[in-house]
Formats: sequence, C-alpha cells, structure tokens
Amino acid sequence: MENIQMLLKQGAVGRPCAPIVKVGDKVERGQLIATPTGLGAPVHSSVSGVVEYITEDRIVIKPDENQSKDYVKVEGADNLELITNAGIVGQGGAGFPTAIKIKANLDHGYILVNASECEPGLAHNIQQIDEDPETLIRGIKYVAEIAGADKGIIAIKKKHKAVIEKLDALLANEPMIERHLLPDIYPMGEERAVVRECLGIELEPTQLPSAANAVVINSETVYSCAKAIEDKKPLIDKNITVRGKIVGGSDAHVFMDVPVGTSVATLIEMAGGIDGDFGEIIMGGAFTGSATTMSAPITKATGAILVTAPFQNLEAKKLGILVCACGGNLNRMMDLAAKYNGEVTHICYCKQAQLQKNGSRKCERPGNCPGQVKNNLDFKKAGCEYIIIGNCSDCSNTVMASAPQMGLQVLHQTDHAMEAVGHDKYRQLTVSKSVDQDLNVVDNVEVE
Ligand code: SF4
Repeated sequence: MENIQMLLKQGAVGRPCAPIVKVGDKVERGQLIATPTGLGAPVHSSVSGVVEYITEDRIVIKPDENQSKDYVKVEGADNLELITNAGIVGQGGAGFPTAIKIKANLDHGYILVNASECEPGLAHNIQQIDEDPETLIRGIKYVAEIAGADKGIIAIKKKHKAVIEKLDALLANEPMIERHLLPDIYPMGEERAVVRECLGIELEPTQLPSAANAVVINSETVYSCAKAIEDKKPLIDKNITVRGKIVGGSDAHVFMDVPVGTSVATLIEMAGGIDGDFGEIIMGGAFTGSATTMSAPITKATGAILVTAPFQNLEAKKLGILVCACGGNLNRMMDLAAKYNGEVTHICYCKQAQLQKNGSRKCERPGNCPGQVKNNLDFKKAGCEYIIIGNCSDCSNTVMASAPQMGLQVLHQTDHAMEAVGHDKYRQLTVSKSVDQDLNVVDNVEVE
C-alpha cells in the first residue's frame, strides 16, 4: 500500500493545522494527528501506520500492511462538539469547517441540503443518497437542531427521478423535511443559487445564507455529521467520482469511503487506468477544479478526479479569456490557455463577477446571465480569433448568441473534460431553464 499524505490544510479556506505527532510515531486509523491553528478543522489519520516524514504542508504515513475499517472514536459532550472534534468540513467545495457553519442561531430557520451535484459528470453524492436516504434524513435533523432550524429542504436536480421517488416515500412521514427540484444547469449548487431556488430570496454576493435565515450544507457533509454523532467517526474517508479517459469507457467510477490522503494515481488505477493520450488531470469538477498530478493526495473536500481529452493545438492563435465567478479563476483560465498553446491578447470578466475584498469574485446572480455582447465586442476589437469562456450554462448561452456571428470561435473551460466524460459541451440551451421542462445543452458550434 502506498504512503498516505495527510495535508495540514484540507480545503481552500482556513489556516494549516499543526502536527501533534512526530516522525516514527505509530498512529491508529482515526487518531488525531494535527490540530487547528486558526480557522480550520482537526486532521485525523485515515490509516494505521507509522509517520514516515513531516513537511511544511503534510504528514506522510506509511500504512501497516493490514488495515481495518475500525477507527479511534472521537469524543464530545454534545452533537456540535462531536462534529467539531470529528474534523467535519464542507465536502462540496472549499472545505469550510462545518461546526462553525451550523452554529448559526437561526430563528426557526431552514437547513438547505445541497444535493444538486452541480458539477457535470459527478455521481457520488446521488449514489450515496440512493443507497442510504435514511441517514441523510437523520443527519438533517441533527444539523437542524444545532442550527436552530425547524425546516429542512433537500435541493436535488429533477433528472434524478428514481432517487427522488425514494426520498419522497420517506419524506411522506417527515413533516419537517421536504425536497425542492432544481433544473440541470450549472451553477445550481452555488449557495446563493440554492437559497434563491428553495426560498425565493436573492442574496447579495457579500451576504451569507444566514441572511435568509438558512444554512446551506452539502449532502455528503450531512452524512459525515450523522456518522460523527452516531458512530463517533472522524472525517477520514471520502466518496469520489473518477471519470474521463479511463480504460473501459467514460462512465463514472464511484468509490465510497476512500481514505483521505490516497493519491490520484491510486484512484485512477482503481478505476482502470488512463486510456491513451489525455490533456490533463483535474482534481474536483470541470468548472471549479484545477489541474493536478498523479502523486497529489485527495483531501476531505475532494469530490472528483477527471482525466480529460487532449487539448486542441491553437498555436499562434490569438485568444481571449472570459472569466466567470462560478468557473475557473484567472490563474486557471491562463493555465488552460497555455495548454491550448494560444496567445492571450485580451481578458474580460463577466460584469456580474463582482470582485470581493479577498481578491476572489462572486456572481451577483448565479445562473442568470446579464448578456455578454459587450465582452464579445471587446474580444473582437482586440483581434481575438478564439475565446475561452468559463461561464455558467445560462451565460454560455448568451455568449453564443453573438460570438459566432462576430467570427469568434468559442471554447469552454470544460470542453476537454466534457468530451472525456461523454457530456454535451456547454454552448447553447435549446429551451427555457424552467424545471418543468427538460433541458438539452447542445454543442452546435464548430470550433475547429
Ligand atoms: S452571471 Fe456571469 S459571473 Fe454569474 S455565473 Fe453567469 S457568467 Fe458567471
């Protein structure tokens, strides 16, 4: 078994934890090995073994030959303390500490469960709900009690008909929990989009869901809370979707309870190995993930490993970049432009991609496009032949309403990943995005 790498910072937010073990120490699965130094959550070993070495950013553990599913149980005086001590973080994105998020003091508020599995091609969240909807319901009740909520709403995409039927049968006896259907577009899982869809309240980019008397929590995170409370289990295992250019086809490979710290290479090997030439490996979804390496470890917040199709060669072509707040940031888009081998001559931001104090961008109205004609005109004036866009479904639609007519060839940030997972490329919606209608996202534009 390969060495397990436990990163001291397990998500995008917070500070690195401080190791409390030293080289040569014997550790058990579930043992606390690093504690927060600020905003963060404790880190527990996902295997039993010996600490091989410690660097600035990780603790590397050589696993014992024989591993057990057992673990060192966490302790806590109440449910919130159990979630805190179990190191639960949000498993749908940035890895924000869950105990802090749910200590919300809502006034008869709402727990909005994000079961949208918003990134295209991912399947582990829905599979977990399909296999065990009962634990999700118990988890919602635990979280609601801590947060001061008296209502739970499960936000799930309408396309998951079989799972919805299963949930509905259980929810018939659960007066405090209902479900809300979402359209199959990106970014339905964005926190403020979930609030808007479920409660009809539009939040400002700077407002948290608490401003709508709500907490938004990813479905896998709810399960982890339930396991921390019922089984005293720390967050040491993660559900992962591996997909793309994998031997055997592009279907999703879902692995449940993979030890945190497992390498990308091991997961790809478990799925069947890479099938021929590929472009890059993405850790996370095609919109919000970034390029990774075979040796990188998964964290508590990792949802997917995607092996993409090769990049088209745009050598000597002038490229424009259109940055969306809900897609890749400028660094990620520049990384893609370099992999396409093009020359970036102009950069635009969607006008709703509002700059935040910390330098990140947030969308003013996720999934509701302001129109992109002005940006397309600017690209044209700058002499761009191609543009790479990172826009949401609705905004890609409005890019396509004018770019091809101006002679701009459009590539989407996710194209190479969508090709590899067998998903239509993000170009034009053919119908309204109402949940009462089925959506068809088509690739109807020639980009060669
Ligand atoms: S409106 Fe703009 S910033 Fe918001 S999701 Fe769409 S493209 Fe992104």
